[in-house]
Amino acid sequence: MTRTISILGATGSVGASTLDLVRRNSDAWRVGALTAHSNVQELAAQAREFGPEIAVIADEARYGDLKVALSGSGIEAAAGRSALCEAAERPTDVVMAAIVGCAGLAPVMAAIKQGYTVALANKEALVSAGEVMTAAVEAHGATLLPVDSEHNAIFQCLQGGNLADVRSITLTASGGPLRLVDDLDSVTPQQAIAHPNWDMGAKISVDSATMFNKGLELIEAHHLFPVSLDKIRIVVHPQSVIHSMVEYRDGSTLAQLGPSDMRVPIASCLAYPRRMDTPMAPLDLAAIGELSFFAPDEVRFPATKLARQAAEAGGAAPAVLNAANEIAVAAFLAGKIRFSRIPVIVEAVLNTANLPPDPQTLDDVFLVDSAARQLAEEYLEKD
Ligand code: NDP
Repeated sequence: MTRTISILGATGSVGASTLDLVRRNSDAWRVGALTAHSNVQELAAQAREFGPEIAVIADEARYGDLKVALSGSGIEAAAGRSALCEAAERPTDVVMAAIVGCAGLAPVMAAIKQGYTVALANKEALVSAGEVMTAAVEAHGATLLPVDSEHNAIFQCLQGGNLADVRSITLTASGGPLRLVDDLDSVTPQQAIAHPNWDMGAKISVDSATMFNKGLELIEAHHLFPVSLDKIRIVVHPQSVIHSMVEYRDGSTLAQLGPSDMRVPIASCLAYPRRMDTPMAPLDLAAIGELSFFAPDEVRFPATKLARQAAEAGGAAPAVLNAANEIAVAAFLAGKIRFSRIPVIVEAVLNTANLPPDPQTLDDVFLVDSAARQLAEEYLEKD
């Protein structure tokens, strides 16, 4: 039977990998909706190839271009933030949440409120909304399937297991492209996004370089797999072959291994609870030769420590951490600040933000997010 998928953030790295799997399995999948931020050309090309009912461009100024690009195709064009949510609400079997940043939160929540199965790549949405999102999943009978390779690995290692029997969860980190670079002050955006193992969008690539990616993942894991924070560990594993591990109380540790290609965890979500083919070559451990592991260096890369503190503080703190990081990363990519300032700005915002009581609603989360962004912008101006 053909299943329908809507892809939020279709023109990005995860979006393109998802569409590649759909292309290879076109007898099993059809596309319901595709969305992008401003890349009209790519969105229209994808829409013409996959024939969704609707294509949405978030940037309203690009609506006219999208309409022209889709003319004669019979595909509905729409624009703006509410159109993103409407696209996420359209009847579907799976919503792939692959928008980058907190910008993806409202459409993810719209899909959750329909009770849909959401394949979640957009970690910033879960980090920011935390309990608001997990409560909505519960209340609306939705299902979150983790796309992030580490969380997907943990999810697979937990199949047939019981969280009560888990002694620890270990998130592996490649350490990013700068693990062995001495001078973090002079790192350029080109160096920071040149990830050694994964081909990803610019923002998550910088997050990998600062280790904020692992920090966000720590908070993400805490929401997806509710074990206490002291049971969630991070280990640097430069080969990125083991994607994460679960240790049980009897001393067994289960790990998931695979190539560094997002089509593996995406396929695991699309086929769940079954399996589907991907074009991956068989894992050749003899060719890989060695797997190595190191403790993270939280002095040079304080992001994981900051994220753990924010997770322990709970409430609004993770949303503040995420918002400040989004602003700092954008400033670094725009050449406005040095790489080494990113964690400094995030820490400053975390320390000075007048944290409101625990966010109870999506609007509360957006208020925290925008206040933290404003504070981060003020720090940037002083920098
Ligand atoms: P990309 O930057 O490659 O793509 C982001 C997508 O989101 C694009 O389609 C982009 O549209 C769209 N988008 C950007 N800003 C907005 C906005 N304000 N409103 C609506 N849409 C927007 O990101 P990735 O694919 O790398 O990452 C997507 C998410 O998945 C992130 O949360 C990331 O952390 C997570 N993730 C990514 C992995 C990877 O391998 N790339 C691995 C694990 C998790 P446009 O093209 O028009 O700008």
